[in-house]
Amino acid sequence: MSLLLKGSGALRTSQMRFDIITIFPEMFRGIFEFGIIRRAVEAGLVEIGISDLRDYAEGRHRQVDDRPFGGGAGMVMKPEPLFRAAEALAAEDVARSIVLLSPQGRLFDQSAARDYASRAHVILICGRYEGVDERVVEGLATDEVSIGDYVLSGGEIPAMVFVDAVTRLLPGALGCDQSAAEESFSDGLLDFPQYTRPPEFRGMRVPDVLIGGNHAEIGRWRKRKAIEKTLKRRPDLIRPDLIDAVSGFEREQGEIELPADEREYED
Ligand code: SAM
Repeated sequence: MSLLLKGSGALRTSQMRFDIITIFPEMFRGIFEFGIIRRAVEAGLVEIGISDLRDYAEGRHRQVDDRPFGGGAGMVMKPEPLFRAAEALAAEDVARSIVLLSPQGRLFDQSAARDYASRAHVILICGRYEGVDERVVEGLATDEVSIGDYVLSGGEIPAMVFVDAVTRLLPGALGCDQSAAEESFSDGLLDFPQYTRPPEFRGMRVPDVLIGGNHAEIGRWRKRKAIEKTLKRRPDLIRPDLIDAVSGFEREQGEIELPADEREYED
């Protein structure tokens, strides 16, 4: 079984294509059919193919896994079906990345998502069981990517995360491209706090500055809150080249609240 999510039109015209290789193609039914990803598919920005690894396996049982050499618990994904599947999907393209989802890979963050958003074709391999035969790492995958320092049961959820994070960075995918530029991580900072109506809820008031309508002040307030939040929660995100900018901003603002153990960023 294979699924292809694409906009109208018979030819491949989209800016980017993802191909996902999995033993559980059914897991992807519906997941990309909502919100921003659905609109990006319909607009022809992206197409998403889902391929069943068993279609590339041989024998009556279409076996995709086997016992590990050297013994040990669990099963390992065999190399032949994975090579066959990825090579078939990559056949027409010179420029493509073959990404093995793996807890041992490069950490997938916003900057990695931005890198991949400039590629034309990304093939994602979802591992299962105890993982995949190491020859897939050595001779097939161009990249190994982890979505975080924890172990999941399979690469399907990481593949969903990957496609979602990359697709929303494609020009035209968000209603307003400025939104991607202002989100958490885009400039080494977490996003500023957002509020909507009502202006007061259970005694909690929306900050006056946001209601005042002075856009320059709102901009300064948002920047300050983004810096405060990042210093409090994720000081590791502040890149060395941003430290000067942040310190300058703190000096200028005076009143910025810093937790005691993060004052190293102050002059
Ligand atoms: N034995 C492997 C290890 O310790 O590195 C873990 C195998 S895991 C149970 C099965 C599959 O889930 C992996 O091959 C990979 O495709 C996927 N997976 C699990 N955690 C992941 C993560 N944090 N990021 C990306 N993929 C992950």
